[in-house]
Amino acid sequence: MKKNNNKVLLHTCCAICSGYPIRKLQELEYEPIAYFFNPNIYPDTEYQKRLESQKRLCEELKCELIVEDYTPNMYMGIMQEFDGYEEGSARCKRCSELRLLRTIQKAKELEIDKYTTSISISPHKSFTVIKDLAKFFAGYFQAEFIDIDFREQNGFFKTNQISKELNLHRQNYCGCETSMQRLQYMR
Ligand code: SF4
Repeated sequence: MKKNNNKVLLHTCCAICSGYPIRKLQELEYEPIAYFFNPNIYPDTEYQKRLESQKRLCEELKCELIVEDYTPNMYMGIMQEFDGYEEGSARCKRCSELRLLRTIQKAKELEIDKYTTSISISPHKSFTVIKDLAKFFAGYFQAEFIDIDFREQNGFFKTNQISKELNLHRQNYCGCETSMQRLQYMR
C-alpha cells in the first residue's frame, strides 16, 4: 500500500464552504486534511474571523488542519493586473489557480498524492473552470484530483446547515477587496 494512501489535502476557502466537503470525503473513507491558504481574504480582521471558524469546524469534524502563512501583499502583487476586473471574471480564475497551485505543491511536500478544493461548492464559481485547472495541475505534478462536485446532492445547502448548526462566522462577500467593495456598492 502506498504511503498516505487515503489522505486528501483539501484546500479550504472558508469554514462555511468546507463543512460538507470534509464530511463527504470522510463518508467516502478518505482522510481529508484541511489546508487553509487564502491570501485573498481582505482585510486581516476578516481573515482572522474566517480562520477561527475554520479551526472550530475542523475540531468539531475531527479533521486535521494546516494553516498557511497569511501573505496578502504577495496576493495583491500577483493580482495587480486584474485590478478593475469584476468578480466572476478572469480575476477569479487567477485567484483559484494561485490557491490550487500552492495546495498541490503542499500536498507533494507532505507526500500526499490526492487533493481537492472547497471553492467549487459555491454557486458563484464555475465548477468546470476549477476542475480543469485542478486536473491540469494534477497531471503536471503526477497527483490525483478528487473529482467530486460537492454541489451535487444539495451540497451547498448542507454545508450552510453545518455552519448554522455550529454558529460559524458567516461572511457576505467572497474574500478579496474587490468583492467586498462590490457588496458595498450594491447596498
Ligand atoms: S471574488 Fe473571490 S474568487 Fe474572485 S478574486 Fe475575489 S476572492 Fe478570489
